[in-house]
Amino acid sequence: MSRLGMVIDLKKCINCQTCMVACKVENFVPAGIFLNRVQDYEVGEYPNVKRMFLPVSCMHCDTPPCRDVCPTGATSKQEDGIVFVDDNKCVGCASCVVVCPYQARSIYKRETLYYKVATPHEEFSHMFRNPSQRHRIGTASKCTFCLHRIEKAGRKGLIIGVDPEATPACVNACIVKARYFGDLDDPHSEVSKLLTKRRALRLLEGLGTEPCIYYLT
Ligand code: SF4
Ligand code: SF4
Repeated sequence: MSRLGMVIDLKKCINCQTCMVACKVENFVPAGIFLNRVQDYEVGEYPNVKRMFLPVSCMHCDTPPCRDVCPTGATSKQEDGIVFVDDNKCVGCASCVVVCPYQARSIYKRETLYYKVATPHEEFSHMFRNPSQRHRIGTASKCTFCLHRIEKAGRKGLIIGVDPEATPACVNACIVKARYFGDLDDPHSEVSKLLTKRRALRLLEGLGTEPCIYYLT
């Protein structure tokens, strides 16, 4: 079995936010909600200050508190490591939204549009959505590592994280190649090789959530 995860090189990220937009377009995310965001920090003291950019989304934790508080079993950790929300079981209680230490979840309250009139992308989105991209109103949503793309790997003989068709949209879109994706348990994957070569950290390690997103520092 695999343990899918992401490695993000903080030295490369320039906060262009292409990944944020790619995620929205790929997953038909309505206005006002971001499943993938880049946080902008200022660190140090004047005159020695630096800007730091931190891309944050669902960490696909190995011990996810969102799953443990879910009263209906809507949130589960799949065998490939992806933490998934079944919107047929979700009742929108928002317990997972409150407990997630990474603020990675949102409740879809309504289908908000960007403009007064729906764009063609919004109007016809229902024709292209895969079940994992469905956002039923009143349910919780978050990054799925673009599960609908990952699922193509088995069907088409693609390599996850290598073939663009079987790789998350944010990884494909990153203009400086700051994002890498693959099987953290495969010693030959690019993500594993990077983690053996470079120093890396995970966010809020002390909480014991065991995130599957690593940051190269
Ligand atoms: Fe759950 Fe939040 Fe961890 Fe994602 S980052 S698996 S939503 S606790
Ligand atoms: Fe950073 Fe890449 Fe996202 Fe641009 S696309 S903000 S460089 S991670």
